[in-house]
Amino acid sequence: MRKPFIAANWKMNKTAGETRAFLDEFLPLVRDVQDVDIVIAPPFTSLPAAAALIKGSNVLLSAQDIFYEDKGAYTGEISPVMLTDVGCTQVIIGHSERRQYFKESDEIVNKKIKAARKHNLDVIFCIGEALEEREAGKTFDVLKREVEEGLKDVPSDSIVVAYEPVWAIGTGKTATTGQAQEAHKYIRERLSALYGGAAQDIRILYGGSVTPENIDSLMDCADVDGALVGGASLKAGSFARIVKFNCK
Ligand code: PEP
Repeated sequence: MRKPFIAANWKMNKTAGETRAFLDEFLPLVRDVQDVDIVIAPPFTSLPAAAALIKGSNVLLSAQDIFYEDKGAYTGEISPVMLTDVGCTQVIIGHSERRQYFKESDEIVNKKIKAARKHNLDVIFCIGEALEEREAGKTFDVLKREVEEGLKDVPSDSIVVAYEPVWAIGTGKTATTGQAQEAHKYIRERLSALYGGAAQDIRILYGGSVTPENIDSLMDCADVDGALVGGASLKAGSFARIVKFNCK
């Protein structure tokens, strides 16, 4: 049985004060949830405030990105050592916004995943096709390449894969349950080719305009094990409802 995993990606939103206000409201709402891994990924500057408030709670802390060296002359970058020092146990790697705006290649994504694992950070590894790729019938080719290149020489433990069709991120267009299940099933097949039976234990999250209204049907799909949530994770009540999927 794969434990459901629901993660909030706040992107470039929320100051430290806004993070505290969110958690003051959110933590009591999810206090009783035992059977879901709950993760929040605030921006770097809000990580210390979040770490202090979630201590001893059932909420885990993630960063939204990482650099692949431990330290040195890399102006503006944040190392795995710094993330563990501030209390992160997870990190999002390969988000489509990083691939698109910051030109992160599969090779860089792979280096970042290896660096995170070297420092025992669990990885939320994002993949997904752009609209033109879907329309050109290349969805499976893109997913195959991203899985194989991103996870090259990476052991399967402590990896969570997030399938995020780029055309569904922040657009209000969610993949249908059929599209999500088809992609997740294909990703699990690719993971099986890499890891054999261990692929059955890897959580595959769906991301792309997840809301309190569509989470229940997405979570009913056989290979959807959770969600990576952007916009709808910014409000405590909305994200708590997503965490409590299927509790109608
Ligand atoms: C994301 O940030 O990973 C995401 C899926 O965003 P949204 O839920 O806003 O589409």
